[in-house]
Amino acid sequence: MSKLILSERAARIGIAPNAAAKARAQALAESGRTVIELTSGEPDFDTPESIKDAAIAALAAGQTKYTAQAGTADLRNAISEKLARENGLSYPAAQIIAGNGGKHVIYNAFAATLRSGDEVIVPAPFWQSFPAMVSINDGTPVLLAGLREDGYKLTPARLDAAITPRTRWLILNTPSNPSGAVYDADELLALAAVLSRHPHVWVLLDEIYEHIRFDDGSREHLLTLAPDLADRTLIVNGGSKPFAMTGWRIGYGAGPVELIQAMTIVQSQSSSAPSSIAQAALAAALRGDQRFVRDSVAAYRERRDLLLAALSRIDGLSCVAPQGAFFAFVDCSALIGAITANGRTIRSDVDLVDFLLYEHGLAVVDGTSFGVPDHFRVSFVAGREAIVEGVTRLAAAVAALTRHDAGFSSSQPTLTEAV
Ligand code: PMP
Repeated sequence: MSKLILSERAARIGIAPNAAAKARAQALAESGRTVIELTSGEPDFDTPESIKDAAIAALAAGQTKYTAQAGTADLRNAISEKLARENGLSYPAAQIIAGNGGKHVIYNAFAATLRSGDEVIVPAPFWQSFPAMVSINDGTPVLLAGLREDGYKLTPARLDAAITPRTRWLILNTPSNPSGAVYDADELLALAAVLSRHPHVWVLLDEIYEHIRFDDGSREHLLTLAPDLADRTLIVNGGSKPFAMTGWRIGYGAGPVELIQAMTIVQSQSSSAPSSIAQAALAAALRGDQRFVRDSVAAYRERRDLLLAALSRIDGLSCVAPQGAFFAFVDCSALIGAITANGRTIRSDVDLVDFLLYEHGLAVVDGTSFGVPDHFRVSFVAGREAIVEGVTRLAAAVAALTRHDAGFSSSQPTLTEAV
């Protein structure tokens, strides 16, 4: 058999670590073990009936053909109305493109704009597809780790220090996957002030978790706070998270017309427009009753609180309460160096995640793969029972470890600090 030769671009990337974690959990489950799977960012709710009905109506009406490459006028108008109604922003349909999910929209933006060696600032912890999509499109991801004391957020000083003449984009994801951090109005204004001094840097604003918020903070949009940034910002959003439409593969971008045109050309020579049925469904979702969004967020909030309460009772783990999105990003640094019952040392978060999966049947994702070691990510959008069983297993697993600092709670000073 002839040996497969990969393209240089394909050789630069690997399978997304959360997909790999999910696959390992599934393989273990198929071997007969019960595995609690808290890896994915996928709501356990079904898509609301009214949205499914809109898809069925589109099929019945014969909306089964290719659509315009950037998406139907109807969907782009629905997105334009949404941006005006919910965000106070004015985007005519010509500044909007629909893609096969928010992920595809981001991919198209990089494919359309990056030249070899161009830099893209990716604040860490990051959604793992950000650096991969930069790399496959010949760019260089510049990873900027956020500190826990800053709530894992990018600070203006760190942004300023990272910008070079080769910087093309800053990725801003708020609420953030995996940290759940939300940038408030002051923080957005401070970042915008830095960007105003660097007019060559564009902003990829990933707002896919826009509505998944648990705080009472400001909802003001970056572009109403700093309207000058609009001519170099791409807003990314979609149906997956607010309307539990992950499998429909439908998302959108809104930005300057030249960028949208360039992305439309890339799309027209690769996937063409997304499915006509999914487009009709998203248009109905955006225009319809938003009760599902409110009710599902209330359910996620309960599950988040349940998870946080259980985590706070596990000595050795701690986390900054997520203000949005679907995950808790748990600090496990106190467990590094601990010994398992069969004598194995937990040397890293990756070891810990393996231990949790293979010895306790709990699947979570290591922080290293999000650019911040000594952490792991737990999803709280699985069903309630899965969360309860998951934290029970987590507590048992941590209790089974022997730590050097046994006898000291993680909040007490260590001996060296006390001296
Ligand atoms: N951005 C972030 C931060 C995400 O977590 C995801 C999905 N996991 C996406 C974008 C893309 O979602 P989709 O392609 O389903 O719209």
